Amino acid sequence: MRYWKKRSVANRTWVPFCLLLILALVSPASPGGLATVAHASPESNPIPKQNPDKPSVQTERRLAIIIDDFGNAMGGTEDMINLPVKLTVAVMPFMRTTAEDAKRAHERGHDVIVHLPMEPKQGRAEWLGPGAILSKMSDEEVRRKVEEAIDNVPYAAGINNHMGSKITEDKRVMGIILEVCMERGLFFVDSKTNYWSITSELRASKGLPDLNNDIFLDDVHSIRHITGQLRKVQELLDQKGKCVAIGHVGVKGKITAAALQQSIPELKAKGVKFVGISELAREYYIPGTHSRPGFTLP
Ligand SMILES: [Zn+2]
Repeated sequence: MRYWKKRSVANRTWVPFCLLLILALVSPASPGGLATVAHASPESNPIPKQNPDKPSVQTERRLAIIIDDFGNAMGGTEDMINLPVKLTVAVMPFMRTTAEDAKRAHERGHDVIVHLPMEPKQGRAEWLGPGAILSKMSDEEVRRKVEEAIDNVPYAAGINNHMGSKITEDKRVMGIILEVCMERGLFFVDSKTNYWSITSELRASKGLPDLNNDIFLDDVHSIRHITGQLRKVQELLDQKGKCVAIGHVGVKGKITAAALQQSIPELKAKGVKFVGISELAREYYIPGTHSRPGFTLP
């Protein structure tokens, strides 16, 4: 799209035609639905201008922190759930503390989402956990697995991917996962483990919110690194006004929780508002413009 846009600007004779074509593509009658319409105006102007997502002065700073890998009494579970800010707790289905973690997170006021195991390009099969979505599965199998996973995690408002680099570029399988999301009134957050992920275009075509991880907090497990990542989060918030960051419970989960605990006062002092991911999802839902009645956020 970007490449095509540049060409249209370089060759001015194409501009009127391109404008008409773009307008046709983003009209409310298009199957693009809400997400496409919501982003239509900045994209529909082929003349380059300042990125509308990057206003020079950004006063609003909303941070959605997703913590992955709950459901198996992993390290840091207690510390995370008790943090004094709103988080999004991503719980793996069919594990020994799945229901318990989801329930306790919900009671503490956190958002809960399904952390759906999905086949990666690399990595061991045993890291996936039970109920994983695999590319070799039939359409019916994928649908059944996704439905069962959702049913297994109480209070789930959405789904994000555990691993999944192979599935997020698989149009067939990803399409079925998103169809089930729509039917259940859930959103899908892409952890962006794959540069070639096609989830953004697929979600746009279905009118689902375009929610993506901006930054991993604990790819290196040290307080110093995580604190550094949280500084980068502040830069992203200055630029965009909102940010989605992902951390983990696990063997080193206590370290991530401690680093967050330490940084929370500074983030709050700088005006950062901690929100659940469903608040960012809800923005895409504008009453009266959405053509998919199945999408009902909490
Ligand atoms: Zn995970």
